[in-house]
Amino acid sequence: MTDAVLQCLGVTKTFGDFVAVRDVSFDVAPGEIVAILGSSGCGKTTVLRLIAGLEAPNSGQILIRGDVASTPQRQTPPDKRGIGMVVQEYALFPHMTVRQNVSFGLNNLSNADKKDRVAEVMSLVRLENLEDRYPFELSGGQQQRIALARTMAPRPFAVLLDEPFSNIDAGMRSDVRRDVEGILRANNTAAVLVTHDRDEAFAIADRVAIMSEGELNQVDAPEVVYHLPANRRVAQMTGTCDFINGVVLDGGLVETEAGILPYDTHSSGIIQGSGVEVVIHPDDFGIDASESGAMVVQAREFRGDETVLVVALPSGATIRCRQESYCAITPGQRLDLILQRPGPFAAFSV
Ligand code: ATP
Repeated sequence: MTDAVLQCLGVTKTFGDFVAVRDVSFDVAPGEIVAILGSSGCGKTTVLRLIAGLEAPNSGQILIRGDVASTPQRQTPPDKRGIGMVVQEYALFPHMTVRQNVSFGLNNLSNADKKDRVAEVMSLVRLENLEDRYPFELSGGQQQRIALARTMAPRPFAVLLDEPFSNIDAGMRSDVRRDVEGILRANNTAAVLVTHDRDEAFAIADRVAIMSEGELNQVDAPEVVYHLPANRRVAQMTGTCDFINGVVLDGGLVETEAGILPYDTHSSGIIQGSGVEVVIHPDDFGIDASESGAMVVQAREFRGDETVLVVALPSGATIRCRQESYCAITPGQRLDLILQRPGPFAAFSV
């Protein structure tokens, strides 16, 4: 028995011969925010549309609060699912005021209750004074918050958010994102957020679902998908990383040019003596500059808030090491690596 509010069970969706979503399974707990992260065309929006009931699966099932809502044979209509949806283009009604837009889904309430609820959600999105304006009189961020207010007004237990911040100025985006997260948390509203922005997924989500080519690769907390990616693709999608070769020793250790390192023993299919590639993030190693060092700085990239050193290992393979912005080390400097990472490394069979 699960208390999940949304469940996708082995859902596949094809368009003609093209498989847009393949055997996708995940669930969302009450109040949980799950971000689906993946590159353009990997099937994120299709998953959202399947959950919303705007598409029917070719196989698999979708359960909403434990009830079967989608099978290939039978669909609960979108408006009977009790789920709110916010899309990239906001979809506010241009000829209606903000108040009219926000009260649109509240027809079952008395006029007095409707007025109270609109005032409540307007204060929730911190836009109390804009009720008589039309959408064209609002900034992109304000329109986005109105769209959210309209979606939240009928108190949905879950909302689907499709790239909801992409039309907002980069400068405002993190403020609006924090507001939206606050509103979802305050209402214990579950959410599935589609994004191709890793920082956005990491900042807002309890769990991140990494998708590529129609398949779900991993669903885990942001820290887990980053530190212990399930495969090479997830590693590349979740952060800056390098891969170095290693040979598996006894006792959860792997021998590499960067030292004997602990690896995550949950990694599947790894046997002693076999070759693996180990995922290295830029903050996994510190450096000890010394003329007798085994490694050499090949390049230095100053990035303002940090300096990244490209460090060549004896074989010529390189890893990136993150340093402070005021790091004065230049190419040619020899050094040794100092292990900083507190936990095991992700390793994949080669
Ligand atoms: P983006 O980030 O660019 O919005 P996405 O990950 O949301 O991409 P989807 O919109 O889910 O991707 O589309 C997944 C694939 O399915 C794409 O290759 C798209 O062209 C295809 N697709 C989506 N809808 C249809 C449709 N109605 N008919 C045919 N192909 C479709």
